[in-house]
Amino acid sequence: MVRMSLEDLYKEVILDHYRAPRNKGRLDPHDVVLERNNPLCGDEIELFLRFDGDTVEGIAFEGKGCSISQASASMMTEKIQGLSAKESGALAESIKAMMAGEEEGDPDALGDLVALKGVVKYPVRIKCALLGWNTLLEGLEEGGKPRG
Ligand code: ZN
Repeated sequence: MVRMSLEDLYKEVILDHYRAPRNKGRLDPHDVVLERNNPLCGDEIELFLRFDGDTVEGIAFEGKGCSISQASASMMTEKIQGLSAKESGALAESIKAMMAGEEEGDPDALGDLVALKGVVKYPVRIKCALLGWNTLLEGLEEGGKPRG
């Protein structure tokens, strides 16, 4: 029986999200929109967030760039939708810790997101993988401010 290596599996997940990004496009109406880029690689992300009380009720992104930056943003939107702002922030922090090599990354908690761990071996790509997540953290901060 042919078994896929973990690395092949990671690549597969990333390519799948790159080819068929989830939640790609504008989100209207939205409460927060942020545009950030990673000049090292030329990646761009525009992140839209809509809150219902403390819940991230809607999340979508526009962007262009390398497969890792776009796939990571796609995976992020899938995972964050419906979480509270606090849970979203905690998830973003644990992804950052995993990418910094400080945490192993718990497959039960992270699901497909553990695929990003395959990127740790390529330090120049870590900024690509974290672009969406850093933008999210800023967006959560902004969303926590009083609105209206
Ligand atoms: Zn990139």
